[in-house]
Amino acid sequence: MEVNNIKIDNWIKDGDRPLVIAGPCSAESEEQLMETCRGVKEQGINVMRAGVWKPRTRPGTFEGIGEEALTWIENVKAELGVKFAIEVAMPQHVELALKHNIDILWIGARSTVNPFTVQEIADSLKGVDVPVMIKNPINPDLALWIGAIERIANAGITKLGAIHRGFSSHQKTKYRNIPMWQYPIDLKSKFPNMPIIGDPSHIGGSRDMIFDISQKSLDLNYDGLMIETHRDPDNALSDAKQQVTPERLGEILTNLKIRTSTSDDALFINHLEELRDKIDNIDREIVESIAARMRVVEKIGEYKKENNVTIFQLKRWNNVASTRADWAKSFDLSEDFLEDLYKSIHSESIKIQTEIMNKLTENGK
Ligand code: PEP
Ligand code: MN
Repeated sequence: MEVNNIKIDNWIKDGDRPLVIAGPCSAESEEQLMETCRGVKEQGINVMRAGVWKPRTRPGTFEGIGEEALTWIENVKAELGVKFAIEVAMPQHVELALKHNIDILWIGARSTVNPFTVQEIADSLKGVDVPVMIKNPINPDLALWIGAIERIANAGITKLGAIHRGFSSHQKTKYRNIPMWQYPIDLKSKFPNMPIIGDPSHIGGSRDMIFDISQKSLDLNYDGLMIETHRDPDNALSDAKQQVTPERLGEILTNLKIRTSTSDDALFINHLEELRDKIDNIDREIVESIAARMRVVEKIGEYKKENNVTIFQLKRWNNVASTRADWAKSFDLSEDFLEDLYKSIHSESIKIQTEIMNKLTENGK
């Protein structure tokens, strides 16, 4: 089906069951790979992952085994009857992956940021029928993610998927890569048929966060999960903190609640409609209130201009920020949420007042 000039085949969804891809961050040795994959397969998983070439931030750390690991993967596939996904970061990787019968390719976050790299990979995929998943770029830039998907689609790949692995940030958060859930949601609005796979391992960066991030991903109707799994996570050569054992993977998957994306139940639909009507009405009031606030902002802008007073007044802003945070608390709202909301409202107020200041009045002031 064509969506926004991109043809996307459904190669992932099997009813409401999410596709689970699991396996080590890196293929380290033939035994480690075989033993890990055997454990993963015992948990009912049939699609494995492993890094063969590892994009590491610092040199001198483990950078993957390279082509030799592809022969281990072929052995695992033959022995366990599973499919295999690996990361490719350059045309040579694509060529070797296809030569060694890899079933699914993915483009890593550090490659998605670079249109030259993505285009080279896309060119090497022309005429090939292999599923390709594109991780979000490291930085929160939706256009880069979309652009990478378009480049791969333009090469004729139709079995596409997007992997949400979170974004780098200078903010201190509990995540290794903050999820910024709105980005995959926006991607889905742009490409409604695009399967989205959650990567809780790289979002969380820590094994005790995998369950909650996976549940949240499924609740947002993701089509699958990619979870790093290792026979001996603590001694993994890369991403040790975020890998889980195959047994733990099994527990996580058993405990995840898989909710249906829709329900035919008439009572449910009616009640949901009622609640959505309420939300629509409240949103209308919110927009009316914001518009009324901005009209007052315009008045203040005119008044400051007449009196030659600056737009931004630190004391006033501090007062706005702290009182709204207190209000948030008293209404059981998150203070962080209200802070973000007010930063956005305040920056719009400044923009409006700046326009007023810059407008020439009749007497040229
Ligand atoms: C990986 O999946 O092992 C990996 C390197 O991920 P990312 O590209 O998301 O950092
Ligand atoms: Mn990893």
